[in-house]
Amino acid sequence: MSASTRKSMRSGPTGLMRALRPAAGEAGDLAPSSAPAPRPATADALLSLRNLRKTFGAFVAVENTTLDLARGEILTLLGPSGCGKTTTLRMAVGLERATGGEIHFNGRPVDAPERRIFVPPEKRDMGMVFQSYAIWPHMNVHENVAYPLRVRRRPAEEIRREVERVLDLVGLSGFGNRPATRLSGGQQQRVAVARGLIFGPDLLMMDEPFSNLDAKLRDQMRTEVKLLQRRLGISILFVTHDQAEALSLSDQVAVMSEGRVEQVGAPFELYNHPGTAIVRDFLGRNLLMEATVVGQGGDGSLILELAGGARIESSGNCHIRTLGEGSPCTVSIRPEHVGVSATAPAQGRNLLSVRIATLLFLGDHFESSVILPDGKLIDVRLPPLETWQEGQTVSLELPARAVHVWDRGPTDE
Ligand code: ATP
Repeated sequence: MSASTRKSMRSGPTGLMRALRPAAGEAGDLAPSSAPAPRPATADALLSLRNLRKTFGAFVAVENTTLDLARGEILTLLGPSGCGKTTTLRMAVGLERATGGEIHFNGRPVDAPERRIFVPPEKRDMGMVFQSYAIWPHMNVHENVAYPLRVRRRPAEEIRREVERVLDLVGLSGFGNRPATRLSGGQQQRVAVARGLIFGPDLLMMDEPFSNLDAKLRDQMRTEVKLLQRRLGISILFVTHDQAEALSLSDQVAVMSEGRVEQVGAPFELYNHPGTAIVRDFLGRNLLMEATVVGQGGDGSLILELAGGARIESSGNCHIRTLGEGSPCTVSIRPEHVGVSATAPAQGRNLLSVRIATLLFLGDHFESSVILPDGKLIDVRLPPLETWQEGQTVSLELPARAVHVWDRGPTDE
């Protein structure tokens, strides 16, 4: 059985040896970079990051990051705390200088340390919206929103007209005279968005803009921003650690881990075809089971034996480097792809007979821990309309195309 017959292979080890964070200071920033020469920027990208690197002293915060943001698209940097999202965005906007690599905006280099090019943020004309809103409390709504035009010394009549236009865009018509401190959190965030948009930037940078809002308002703002972006045709570079936000809002998501981009792709593609275990585990939930490869089916599927003896087939993505009979592996499947039925213990492939260990009723479904044939527990969702009982034997169906096969990693044991 040859690995090349399989659809998708894992791109290689991703573990990174990282230097320890030093005391504050950026002594290493101007040191020559040992990174590869920057790749040429993609011609039609609005923002292009080429082999970007950022160190703080000896600490590597961002490494070898190459990304393109196309015109009219939302690109989201997604990843756990400390993975380098904000540092990447701050370099793109010019609030941090890159240590190596290049940033191109609108076809021009704006940061290229090895060519001694650096365009300051005020000359990049990118709008910014921060998590903290950064609303000035001593100004009213009109003055806050007008500020970017004031510093650009635009005529008073144009400022008045533009402030009205953007307040209308964000649903705050008539709020101009309201003191900024007398706004709700959601309204303050709308003021911040209006201020980011007022000078008509091609690119809006948004760093965790909704994380101070409650869950309901966050959902609402997400929809509003997407509608606004589609209407205005602007591009957005968005930063979040919230996967639901990233999946629902973005045209492209770049999943970052330890200063590097693990994988970039459309949300549907990333969720259903993660290329690495890090992306798989960061996006959504997975059921993970230990298995061994026992052969290949006639249709090219893989036949696997789960610990405990049950056999299943996989026609999903295979990420094993060396395929052969007896290869140990981990199989993964999303809980929502698992079918559950209360019928008698199942026979046959891709059906597993399991026993319910615990049941939690959550209104729209039950969360249940079930005992696999090898004695391990996994969590599955059970539909709410049947009455389930702890101790009951049920049948799980694992559709072959939803079963993905991976090299067994340290976290899967
Ligand atoms: P979060 O979601 O928590 O904001 P993040 O992914 O945005 O995290 P960054 O803020 O980009 O992460 O930080 C990446 C790493 O760089 C972190 O380990 C952080 O402590 C470090 N770092 C960021 N700024 C500095 C600085 N000025 N000096 C030293 N280290 C820094």
